[in-house]
Amino acid sequence: MLNITHYHRPTTLKEAVALLVPGRAVIAGGTDLMVNPRYTQGVTELVDITGLGLAYIRLADCRKATGWVYLGAATTMYEVQNSTLLASIAGGVLAKAAATCGSPNIRNVATIGGNVCSALPSGDTLTTLLALDARVALQGPLGHRELPLSDFFLGPARTVLQQELLVEISFQVPHPPSGAAFYKLGRTEEDISIVNTAALLCLDSQGRVAKARIAAGAVAPTPLRALQAEEFLTGKFPGPDNLNEAARLTMAAVSPITDQRATADYRRKVTRVCALRALEQALASCGPLNQAAI
Ligand SMILES: Cc1cc2nc3c(=O)[nH]c(=O)nc-3n(C[C@H](O)[C@H](O)[C@H](O)COP(=O)(O)OP(=O)(O)OC[C@H]3O[C@@H](n4cnc5c(N)ncnc54)[C@H](O)[C@@H]3O)c2cc1C
Repeated sequence: MLNITHYHRPTTLKEAVALLVPGRAVIAGGTDLMVNPRYTQGVTELVDITGLGLAYIRLADCRKATGWVYLGAATTMYEVQNSTLLASIAGGVLAKAAATCGSPNIRNVATIGGNVCSALPSGDTLTTLLALDARVALQGPLGHRELPLSDFFLGPARTVLQQELLVEISFQVPHPPSGAAFYKLGRTEEDISIVNTAALLCLDSQGRVAKARIAAGAVAPTPLRALQAEEFLTGKFPGPDNLNEAARLTMAAVSPITDQRATADYRRKVTRVCALRALEQALASCGPLNQAAI
């Protein structure tokens, strides 16, 4: 039962950070915080971050091939889903992942920063952000720090945040020829994922894999990168046998649980299928060079 006695609405980052003391929780869209008691244990005051100007999507360098994309933490899933900039980068993979986060009314208020800070293994933008090598910028009483998203998660609903605010998420636009894809398996497309996967493939001039990123969600205490599978693909042609082996290695990396959505065994098996589909779709979106691979 929520026992909130004060609701703060800071208008500057400095003011917001000063409010982050024990007993207070950050609220963005509130779609996790208001329904999941684990986020409000011992909380009596809320700090609303939607008035801080943290809803934006920017490309820092207008030469897209070398640019960095910056997303404010309070950008809603609706804004991510409908961003023409994001639709034009890496096959629109982040916009597509955001489009599967709940129903339209959830996406109107749910933020990408909230999805990251909730740190649920099933969070739908998390695997895509991992595949894009995203970084997170945090602001707290001791100042600013930046780290790779892969170092941010500690366990289910646990992160490195220490009375800090996630301010911004960034990633570099993948160099072409490259392609990325998100593949979600849920009861319906809008349901919480049973398993989700994301893949990014960057090819060299011969069509070999120069860089591979494969991430899987809802199959371990945190969303995870399949490092062995990535290493296996690097330097190889992404033909069917190699993609199949990478999918098998992804399955070998997971440690799922059984819950009301699926058994651990089912999750493990479909991880292979989801990883393969994400890899095949990523390859298909690489453009003409991928033909050399098959
Ligand atoms: C019906 C329903 C369906 C859903 N379906 C999906 C789905 O399909 N896929 C999916 O991934 N999620 C789903 N969710 C979960 C939720 O909508 C997302 O995780 C959402 O992105 C959370 O964002 P929010 O802004 O609402 O976060 P909030 O609920 O406001 O916050 C969540 C947590 O993060 C903290 N927090 C938020 N922002 C920051 C910040 N900038 N800095 C520091 N801490 C912060 C809060 O203190 C809290 O602990 C669903 C939720 C509901 C209710």
